[in-house]
Amino acid sequence: MKALLSAALAAASLLAAAPAAAEWRVREEAIMGTRVAVEAWHEDAAVADAAMAAVFAEMHRVDRLMSHYKPESELSQVNARAAAGPVAVAPELAALIARALEFSVLTDGAFDITYASVGYLYDYRAGQRPDDAQIAAHLPAVNWRHVIVDRAASTVRFTQDGVRIDLGGIAKGYAVDRGVAILAEKGIRHGTVTAGGDTRILGDRLGRPWVIGIRHPDDRQRVVSRIPLVDAALSTSGDYERYFDEDGQRYHHIINPRTGRSAGELRSVTIIGPDATTTDGLSTGVFVLGAERGLALIERLRDVDAVLVTAGGKVLYSSGLAPP
Ligand code: AMP
Ligand code: MG
Repeated sequence: MKALLSAALAAASLLAAAPAAAEWRVREEAIMGTRVAVEAWHEDAAVADAAMAAVFAEMHRVDRLMSHYKPESELSQVNARAAAGPVAVAPELAALIARALEFSVLTDGAFDITYASVGYLYDYRAGQRPDDAQIAAHLPAVNWRHVIVDRAASTVRFTQDGVRIDLGGIAKGYAVDRGVAILAEKGIRHGTVTAGGDTRILGDRLGRPWVIGIRHPDDRQRVVSRIPLVDAALSTSGDYERYFDEDGQRYHHIINPRTGRSAGELRSVTIIGPDATTTDGLSTGVFVLGAERGLALIERLRDVDAVLVTAGGKVLYSSGLAPP
């Protein structure tokens, strides 16, 4: 009895000495047209809260730089003026555009930020899409080779009129990577940062892996696969994110740069890899490539794996993932 009592007292004084209760902290906000969520753990919850606030500030900063909705963003300035001559941009934006062009090379043009030269003609909320003549007129402007980045001068220019770029296929992953870097800088060793379909995991879940569910394309409550992760990134691209259906045909936001139309072979692509910029770029690119060419690419790359859901509802895994 006495031993128990003194143990209880010792526990109580320990608690009193602790700066704030250690617990998981969770915060969500709508940024970049999507849901951004951050989770973090620290012995001192105040440290976790401060780190998370810094992450959200960073997300807003990246959004201001790279949004194509905001006319004052550097990205919008590039779209307005780069066909006339080099436009000065932040080194960070030049670097991300250069990275996007690398994904174009890697995916044989399936990932292409100039998709937007046609892509801007779609309005999924309004159920609007370009007709064949409009697509044919704008398609010549879709080609990543039209984009010239000068990293030394930190400028971007387009080789012809009509070119538009959009970083929607890679910027969320980049923002997530920035978020995780900030968590780590602020002393967090266990956490997650998510923006829409892009997640990066920092550390483990206090001795266990994080488990991320891949949703069923037609039912967000159903999970087609669960992936345990530690210190990794996971991105999912799906035809259910932004779309409208017309006459039994789905028009969605992932555009095949060769046709100017929605890529139709897959329902979703999930990529697992070391960082979220990579998994984000590859999830969009593999979605366009389709099952055969997409999986062949993933098998060629080190450090990445994939889970594909085909139009027929089959779930395909790259060889690095043991089927459940
Ligand atoms: P994600 O959810 O990462 O696959 O990103 C989809 C977004 O990427 C779309 O909403 C567009 O902003 C952009 N996008 C669409 N098609 C392409 C493409 N072929 N290459 C690069 N980005 C694209
Ligand atoms: Mg992507």
